[in-house]
Amino acid sequence: MPAHAFICPNRSQVPIEDCLKQCQQPMRCMFLPTLRSIAASLNRNLEGASVTELISGTRETYLKKMTNYTVDPQTVLYALHGSAVHTLHEQHTAGNMLSEIRLKDAVTSGKFDLYGQILDADEGVLGDLKVTSSYKIMKALGRYKVDVPTGQYYVSGKKKGQMKYSKEWRDDGVRGVGDWSIQLNYYRILLEQQGLAVNRMVIQALCRDSSLRMAAERGIDQAVYLIPIRRIRDEWILRYMQKKAENLKTALAERRLPSRCSSKERWHDRKCKDYCQVAEHCPYGKVLKITASEVKQERPPA
Ligand code: SF4
Ligand code: SF4
Repeated sequence: MPAHAFICPNRSQVPIEDCLKQCQQPMRCMFLPTLRSIAASLNRNLEGASVTELISGTRETYLKKMTNYTVDPQTVLYALHGSAVHTLHEQHTAGNMLSEIRLKDAVTSGKFDLYGQILDADEGVLGDLKVTSSYKIMKALGRYKVDVPTGQYYVSGKKKGQMKYSKEWRDDGVRGVGDWSIQLNYYRILLEQQGLAVNRMVIQALCRDSSLRMAAERGIDQAVYLIPIRRIRDEWILRYMQKKAENLKTALAERRLPSRCSSKERWHDRKCKDYCQVAEHCPYGKVLKITASEVKQERPPA
């Protein structure tokens, strides 16, 4: 039971098929092709579970497969950015490379973006395209700011006599690439199962907000970054994904709601409040959403 209805700007719900046939309001809230693309991006694979579905919280994936959920088209447009970038690349992959092939094993299936000679002479590069925020790129690069003493002192004011510091960027912090790393490593395993050697894994991250001041404040001054992904031991990845696949399979067979997504999977509640499409069907998400809307109502006008 995938997403079945769109939410119109006036909050009424309309079955997706009906919306695509004929808008139920005086005028469409966006172009018809845009709505068609959104509808296509929502088509869920109800049989088995893909690598990306297994990486998400088990409860979220379970609810997406078991409930008729509604989607506000305005809130899922970001998914089209990624699809658009994939489509652009698909048209230009002639040469010594493969792209967008779905591979399967006994646990799951996954469609890698690019594989082959995509960066240099190395024919075994697995590439993945991401369209993401400057915040996520900053974290993925392990970039952080430090105070560096300038050797100069304040000569007046409250700080008189104190050392002056300047901010400098460092790139040697902990790299926040957890889910990306699991995803690419699983695609690597799927390729290797087909006898294709993967020598390197690289993410090409396109920054959504690269021209904004916020991105510059995060030390992100390029539109595109290449982020290398390290190899994780096959045993660890396979054990992790097998466990998640088993948990989901059992929950679906028993029609039992899995325990709530982990704190990391639910982005420390941010996803439940604003981004989870099935939050309305999740007891935890529902409570968080009600509490968030009550806090908003109680807040005095600015
Ligand atoms: S086009 Fe927009 S306003 Fe019209 S029915 Fe669809 S979702 Fe509602
Ligand atoms: S609302 Fe939160 S806990 Fe519930 S399914 Fe969504 S992400 Fe998971």
